[in-house]
Amino acid sequence: MVEVEHLRKSFDDLEVLKDVTFSVAASEVLAVIGPSGSGKSTMLRALAHLEEIDGGSIRIGGETLAKDGRYAGSAKLKGITVRMGMVFQHFNLFPHLTVRGNLELAPKLVKGLPATDIRANASELLEKVGLSDKADVYPSNLSGGQKQRVAIARALMMSPEILLFDEPTSALDPELTGEVLQVMKQLAEERMTMIVVTHEMGFAREVADRVMFMADGEIIESGRPEQLFGAPQHERTRSFLQRVL
Ligand code: ATP
Ligand code: MG
Repeated sequence: MVEVEHLRKSFDDLEVLKDVTFSVAASEVLAVIGPSGSGKSTMLRALAHLEEIDGGSIRIGGETLAKDGRYAGSAKLKGITVRMGMVFQHFNLFPHLTVRGNLELAPKLVKGLPATDIRANASELLEKVGLSDKADVYPSNLSGGQKQRVAIARALMMSPEILLFDEPTSALDPELTGEVLQVMKQLAEERMTMIVVTHEMGFAREVADRVMFMADGEIIESGRPEQLFGAPQHERTRSFLQRVL
């Protein structure tokens, strides 16, 4: 579903991604862990074309998003990125739109479906994330956990083939993380392909099919959760896990 090869990215003199190669199969949940500054967000942002890259290739759903450090032309790029949903740490909801408005905006602009179909889809997804009663509320009147569930429903409105999450619970009070993780767990059970950058080791252990440890712009190791958490192969991984577990 996703194939990344020799991905490189620098910000001026700082090499943030050094020859990153990995793949994610359809229906797989990949958790990405690693210390602050290791390049996790940059890697996700490169997949969503929110950054330019310096080298390497990215294929998504069998199509070439970037090759030899260059992204595809804009029409193709749009076609591919529309098939990916991204959920950010700070929700990034549109404050001037209601919950329903947030869900309906992109499909109205991009998909050209009848408004009644879009509305029905929004209602269905709000029910899925447990927020049917919040359709007409503005984001400022929601808790962080509710905002993030809206953000997930909004991403789902575009029927993505893959969802990218960048620390979706890091900005939440601890008592609100569970409701968001529960929605993500349900998506995993429905076989949604997901890449989840997370500090939630419990979630990574329980829900991810594979866990990838990054440090200093490199993938140090990846493996099944029980393997990576139970028997890490590298000293860097061991010392990171000792600090966070
Ligand atoms: P965290 O766990 O803190 O979110 P991260 O693994 O997501 O960290 P990145 O945000 O990918 O790390 O950042 C990797 C490095 O790139 C950091 O040193 C960061 O300061 C730097 N960096 C990120 N974005 C930019 C930018 N737009 N301009 C310059 N440097 C940047
Ligand atoms: Mg980050």
